[in-house]
Amino acid sequence: MTAPVLELRNLSKTFQLPRKGGWFAGYIDHHAVRDVSLTLPRNTILGLVGESGSGKSTTGLMTMRLMEPTSGRILIDGADISALTPAALKPYRRQMQIVFQDSYSALDPMMTLARIVAEPLHIHGIGTPDDQTEQALAMLDRVGLHRSYGQRYPHELSGGQRQRVAIARALILRPKVLVADEPTSALDVSVKAQIINLLLDLQQEMGLSILFISHDLSVVRSLTDRVAVMFNGRIVETAATETIFSDARHPYTQGLLSAIPVLNPRDRRPRRFLTAEEIERGIPRLPGAGTSPALVQVAPDHLVEAVAG
Ligand code: ADP
Ligand code: MG
Repeated sequence: MTAPVLELRNLSKTFQLPRKGGWFAGYIDHHAVRDVSLTLPRNTILGLVGESGSGKSTTGLMTMRLMEPTSGRILIDGADISALTPAALKPYRRQMQIVFQDSYSALDPMMTLARIVAEPLHIHGIGTPDDQTEQALAMLDRVGLHRSYGQRYPHELSGGQRQRVAIARALILRPKVLVADEPTSALDVSVKAQIINLLLDLQQEMGLSILFISHDLSVVRSLTDRVAVMFNGRIVETAATETIFSDARHPYTQGLLSAIPVLNPRDRRPRRFLTAEEIERGIPRLPGAGTSPALVQVAPDHLVEAVAG
């Protein structure tokens, strides 16, 4: 069996936050990500969903080694990259790229789009300057921006066009893994759909594997193969996307699903907003589960957090 293209093993991040009461009051531990294990099989899209503050971006940043984990490991194609020095990490940087919600801040306002998209080739010393420009223009064209956009600057673009440029820049090195952190959250509905379709096309064409971070379950449903649900820093449920939408077992997942807006009033279900306490109390009780909450397999490829009961 070949290794998954990306694997997270027991990843945790604890932030030390200053205690209220001044500098002498010391610090408290804030467990933003707790013991997260995930696998991303080659050529698939895994959705990482959860409300704001659940730990999704922290997980994405650690995956990219843009933030150091407190503990745990990150494997790319079976190779452990968690402890590599920046120099040793460089070849792996080519293989994993990230796109953020707010790409404007990531695009240098003084650079033309051709230069922005070509820059990763330049950093990695791939091709002559002319090759680099040609590849950048071809990639701009591929993401739906005519080659003439190469001469333009980020401020001349709409939000959707900026996301296209960010995607072009992320994919110019033909990475194996793309982390997309809420890439469509700032966009209008119609533009959102275009960017989702573009990502799907590129994923299939390039054999990409995508960790797609989102709090928008309708987008996740149309794009992903599998879903991992995050609550309070933990993964509480993972399954194939259809299973999550038809057979969610964890109260947090069920609550998220009930909050999806539906267009037809007849399909409207009552929204169930559970408090964190209610969710903790509602963790499924399963024979054979441990005394503290942990993921338990309830069907092939369906894991749910459960406790003994
Ligand atoms: P999400 O992306 O799901 O909204 P985040 O990963 O951004 O969640 O944040 C998870 C938790 O960690 C939140 O409580 C957030 O306030 C906290 N957090 C994130 N980054 C930092 C940081 N650099 N320092 C301290 N706390 C942080
Ligand atoms: Mg986030």
